[in-house]
Amino acid sequence: MRVLLVAPPGAGKGTQGALIATHFDIPHIATGDLLRDHVARNSELGRSVREHLSRGELVPDGIVLDMVRAAFIEAKADGGGYVLDGMPRNLAQARELYEIGRGLEMTANVALHLKANDEELIRRLLTRAVLQGRSDDTEPVIRRRLTLYHEVTHPIVDWYASRGILVSVDAVRPVEQVARQVLTALEAMRPLVQHVPEHARRSVDLTGLGAAFGRS
Ligand code: ADP
Repeated sequence: MRVLLVAPPGAGKGTQGALIATHFDIPHIATGDLLRDHVARNSELGRSVREHLSRGELVPDGIVLDMVRAAFIEAKADGGGYVLDGMPRNLAQARELYEIGRGLEMTANVALHLKANDEELIRRLLTRAVLQGRSDDTEPVIRRRLTLYHEVTHPIVDWYASRGILVSVDAVRPVEQVARQVLTALEAMRPLVQHVPEHARRSVDLTGLGAAFGRS
């Protein structure tokens, strides 16, 4: 299974990404975690991106693409599955990622879109700020990250819909309900992924299905 996560900050990419990775026994490649790790280690790359991260700006495409290419090569040796969390964040990254995937015969099978409204996202991120103290979880920086998401990241969702690999899920529910719906959808897609070519598929919108997955 090869999954991309497309979601605004605070929607639960990290949490759902980790659950998907465990469920399918595939690596969880999280670009934000990889970048924060560089910053924490004070590597040359870390020093060059620290400011971008703390201002909530995107780091240059080339840096993340190189990181993800290296992670894909490792994932290929490990069976070829992955859940990629945090990339692509703009259309240029989406195109470039597709080329990397084609070169390695590892293009994504599913683009999982976690949907949530800004009010809920800001509330979650401010709660997380108290617990984790991430340098980009202050209200002005959260607002900047959300603006960037709406302006440059969200448009990619249509691109995945047109490729027939989009699955949309309502993320404004308890973690376990979102997880149940995500894993059920991905399991249902497993045979499709293996046997039906992308151009013959339709995107799947599960956002109206809350009740079937435990919403009261
Ligand atoms: P969030 O989605 O909550 O903003 P992430 O951990 O995914 O958190 O990303 C944190 C930061 O890392 C981003 O604000 C950005 O500065 C940087 N980043 C992560 N992935 C990318 C990417 N694909 N392209 C550019 N910058 C990125």
